[in-house]
Formats: sequence, C-alpha cells, structure tokens
Amino acid sequence: MNTWLEISRGAVEQSVMNYRKMAPGSAFFGVVKSNAYGHGLQEMTEILKPLHARGDVSGLAVNAVFEALALRSFGYTGTVLIMGRNGDEDYRDIPESESDFHMVLSTVDDIRALQSIRPLPFHLKVDTGMSRLGLHGKAFEEVLDFLSSRPSLPWRGLMTHFANVEDVMDQGYGRMQLARFEQAMDRARAVFRTSGFTGELICHSAASAPAMLLPESRQHWIRVGISLYGFWPSSSTRLSARTVFAEMPEFRPALAWKSRVVHINRVEAGTDVGYGCTFRTPAPTTIAVIPVGYYEGYDRSLSNRAHVLIRGKRAQILGRVCMNMIMVDVTSIPECEPGDVATLIGLDGQESISADELADLAGTINYEVVTRIEPGIPRIIVD
Ligand SMILES: *Cc1c(COP(=O)(O)O)cnc(C)c1O
Repeated sequence: MNTWLEISRGAVEQSVMNYRKMAPGSAFFGVVKSNAYGHGLQEMTEILKPLHARGDVSGLAVNAVFEALALRSFGYTGTVLIMGRNGDEDYRDIPESESDFHMVLSTVDDIRALQSIRPLPFHLKVDTGMSRLGLHGKAFEEVLDFLSSRPSLPWRGLMTHFANVEDVMDQGYGRMQLARFEQAMDRARAVFRTSGFTGELICHSAASAPAMLLPESRQHWIRVGISLYGFWPSSSTRLSARTVFAEMPEFRPALAWKSRVVHINRVEAGTDVGYGCTFRTPAPTTIAVIPVGYYEGYDRSLSNRAHVLIRGKRAQILGRVCMNMIMVDVTSIPECEPGDVATLIGLDGQESISADELADLAGTINYEVVTRIEPGIPRIIVD
C-alpha cells in the first residue's frame, strides 16, 4: 500500500467529550457528510457507533439520502439528520420501514413532495442570515400557516445555520442571527403547541464554532462537523475561545495522511523539474517521488511551496504537483530510499504538518483540504 490515511479513534473520542463537557445539555450530533470530511464514512461510523451506544453521540448528520443509506449499511441504527435539499426521486431509495431519517425542508412544496413519497419526520429550516436554505419573514409565516392546519404531519424540528461565527472575532452577526432564530422559535413553538402537534419541537442551530463561542446557540441539538475530527474551525475561533473558556478544550487532528517514496532521482545543478519546468535545481539535488497528486486531493496550488516529512525532516515540493505524483527535495536527507514513509499531513518525530498549514499555503480552509482527499485511498483506524 503506497498511500493511506490513519484515523485516530482516540482523537475523535476526545473531540466528542470536549463538546459533551462544554454543552452537556445538548444532544451531540456528529456531522459526517462528504465522506466524513474526507476521513471515510465507514471508518468514522465504526468509531462513532460505540459512542452512540453509550449515549455521548445522539445522532449523525449528513447532506444526502445516499449518505444516510450508507450509514445504515455500516450498521448504524440511530437518528440521521439529512440536511441538504435532495431530489424528490431520492426519497424513493429510502426503505418504507425507515422512520429515523429526519429531513431538513424549507418550503411547502418541499413538505408536500416528501410526504407524498415517504412520510418521514422533518425539520423546518429558517433563514436567519445565511441566505441559503430556509425561509424568513412572510414566506416563513406562510409555511407555519400551512403546518398549522395539518397537525398529523410528522413535523419534528426547527433549525437554522450560522454564516459568520468562525470567520470573525466579533460575534455581532452571530448574535443577530441568534435573535432572529429566537423569534422564529417563539413563533414556531406557538404554532406547534396550538395546532395539535404532539411532543416538543426540537430546535438546533449550532455547528462547531457557534457551539463553542455562543452558548445561547446550544438548543436541543448541536451539529458538530469540523471539530469532531479534531480541528479548530479557524484560527479566529481558537483565539475567541480563549476569552470563553477558563480551561481551553484540547483538540487533536484525527487524520494523518501517509505515502511512500517510490523512486529516487539524483540530478545535476541546472536541471528542470516537472511540468512547465517551474523549478530548476540550483545545485546537485536528490529528488524523491511520492505517488500522490491532485487527483488524490493534494492541491495543485501547493506546487513549489508545501513540504512532506521524511525521516522526521521536511522535504520541499519541487515543481508542479502532478495528477498522481509529487517530487520532493531530499538532498539533505541522504539516507532516504524507496519505501520510506512520507507524511503529507501528520507527525513524524519532532516535525508535523497540519491540514491548516496546507490550507494556508493553498489559500483555502482546513475543511477543504481534508474533504478533497480521494475517497478510494484506504483509511485505517488507529488509536
Ligand atoms: C456542515 C454543516 C454543519 C457542520 O459545520 P462545522 O462547521 O463543520 O461544524 C452544521 N450544520 C449544517 C447545516 C451544515 O451544513
């Protein structure tokens, strides 16, 4: 095996317990959309099942119906929140016996479409400032009107999503959204109660960063994605957290990305390396070839910039990232030989490379770096 990911069970468990401690009154939902943020849906399900069994994880959240069905095929039996707007025809893929998929819907048409195919429980989405799914104002009131005369519908929840908590230190926008959501909750609860719906309306709004930084955003459920995998949502979230917590929670990334040197090439000074000849060796250079490229999810904008770790030392990428390979400079690691482990993300001895470091170099966020790792690469659970 030339390339693989290691997923730490202990790191995931630590992340869940951090949230259990900071938000003991809210049910923890792990967000495992997009192949569990690249960590592998099947492997993450294996890690989360025991946490679900002991009650620290109350449910899982995904984007699409096919992901929810995959969770069932991996033996997960609990509640699944399906957060994206799926195609109506996708509902037909859900077995008629399924009753614990909760769909997120926004409009009267959404509700009609789902109920005509599968009478699954649904959560109504309110737009409080993200301008994505959900409705607000008069259009939202119209949906409540529609529901008020149909108490037999399996309406179970109300939710929203924050647009601007992880990107800033000032939570003004988040607080404005929270105020709008509080209004929407008041309205929806009143309709729910007076129209004959039974039980309690489940309310939820917080993703990783709001759950940490805005305690009022922790309602019945919290929906934790990026931090489930041991990441801070951003550096400003980490800075803001210092002002919120007496004792900072510790997160450690669950994922390490490893590969192996497959070839060594010793070249003279003045030799061009890679497509476009964007690097020319200033001196005799030893090049190691690693079988990972942009197809595997190693961003092409890391060309000539990022490093990998070999034998505990940094080796810089030389030239452009290819589709399935990169070339790195191992001139200062003379013992390097084919078969050596190359760490693209993770620890090697005293050195480490984080997804955040690659995200900074690539001009993106840690979320994108990990979700883009090719799903076919083996994921191995370690401890
Ligand atoms: C992806 C997503 C989340 C999780 O967000 P993180 O920032 O990764 O914790 C929560 N809620 C919704 C609606 C999402 O789409």
